[in-house]
Amino acid sequence: MTIKNIMLGCLYGQAVGDALGLGTEFMNKNEVRKHYPQGLIRYDQIIQDDHRCRWAKGSWTDDTDMMICIMDAFDGTGFNYHAIARNFKEWFNGDPLGIGGHTFKVLCMSDYAEQPEMCSKLWWDLSHHNSAANGALMRTSVVGLAPSYTEEHAETICRLTHYDPRCIGSCVIASSIIHNLVWHNKMLSYDEIRQIGRKYDNRIAEWIGKAYNCSDISLLCLGDTSIGYTLLSLSAALWCYWHAVSFENGLLLTVNEGGDADTNAAIACSILGAKFGYEAIPQYYIENLSKLDEYKAKVSRFINETLNEK
Ligand SMILES: [Mg+2]
Repeated sequence: MTIKNIMLGCLYGQAVGDALGLGTEFMNKNEVRKHYPQGLIRYDQIIQDDHRCRWAKGSWTDDTDMMICIMDAFDGTGFNYHAIARNFKEWFNGDPLGIGGHTFKVLCMSDYAEQPEMCSKLWWDLSHHNSAANGALMRTSVVGLAPSYTEEHAETICRLTHYDPRCIGSCVIASSIIHNLVWHNKMLSYDEIRQIGRKYDNRIAEWIGKAYNCSDISLLCLGDTSIGYTLLSLSAALWCYWHAVSFENGLLLTVNEGGDADTNAAIACSILGAKFGYEAIPQYYIENLSKLDEYKAKVSRFINETLNEK
């Protein structure tokens, strides 16, 4: 596989997982079964309730919107952090469909674009250091595609909205997995991933272990508890990284668990796209993405700039 092919797999995997996952977002497993008795497989099955009718079928949501804010701030060698914060704020001032609670509080502060880390830390402090949502993990895939400084970029970009070390560790893990697949053709091992986790927070190890040891994704209870917790979403992505036998297998297993399914699948599928490559994504899911032309243009600009600099 070429580097370009892996990058395309990662970026389209992100959007596809996000778009199909919207169909079961916030549902528990019983609700998923009720609304999709044969399973959710295609965008056109997505039910049109009050939450979901705000998006066209095949649309990605806030997860990929915010990933694009990061992608657009790539300057050829690295990411311009000020530009990312400005892009987040501009997105927030538009129509930030699907925005998470923690991200909303941080981005609504009037001086966010000038002092993003201060705003991010303030809301983490106000949560008594409990807030550890998956809002930074959901957008971190593109960080792993830059040629260098993966850890530094992942940490700093996470901290623009999410200050908790569990969030930062999640972002560094997901971005590093992708970076190693793209640039070194290497799968990070269980021990290597645990080592990264240990650097940030000792609560991360348990969730890495769960993902590695569970034979069935349903044992992670993605639809039942702690919806939106960064380590739960990380465990879904890691489960797919180790156990999914194909891109489609991981995509369908993840979205049919419900919970924060768009985010879980966005992260999982960005990793699966990097692992299995662009050609492994069934064309249906790419061709039927809403706003595909817009996405194509942004993705090719980013990939061309990245590879030209290398
Ligand atoms: Mg979303």
